[in-house]
Amino acid sequence: MTFALSALSLARLDGVDPRLTRVVKRAIQLTTVDFAVIEGVRSDDQAYRNWGKGRTAAECRAAGAPTSYARPAEAKVTWVRRPLNTRHRRQANGYGSAVDLLPAPYDWKATASFDAVAKAMREAAQELGVAIRWGADWDSDGYPRERGEADSPHFELAQ
Ligand SMILES: [Zn+2]
Repeated sequence: MTFALSALSLARLDGVDPRLTRVVKRAIQLTTVDFAVIEGVRSDDQAYRNWGKGRTAAECRAAGAPTSYARPAEAKVTWVRRPLNTRHRRQANGYGSAVDLLPAPYDWKATASFDAVAKAMREAAQELGVAIRWGADWDSDGYPRERGEADSPHFELAQ
């Protein structure tokens, strides 16, 4: 089975660092599970929106995020300390350096599918000589989610 990125997935790679884009485009050729790019470059509004999920107004205030973004009843989706501390934002070189990939069957709890995509991303990155980090294995020791990391869709440039 071979897969290809959809037009929407390709559009979402717009503005993403060419090194990471190359890795994603190679990974879709290597993966055993189809995947979609669900986010590339992220605006500050979207960064605040994500950070506010699972956090109170007080937590937002303490972190410098507008309190209107607080959504304490929702599940937390990001563990970064500062809301704008995300590599999805445009970096100094003008590119975003993170992508979120959602594998088939597009179920957030399908851990094995995320692991399969991570394997393809790792292989593609190795082949292309690009250092990347995966949101479910921040220390890249091959043991996903060992410290509660849950950002399975997230990949970013490591340098
Ligand atoms: Zn992400």
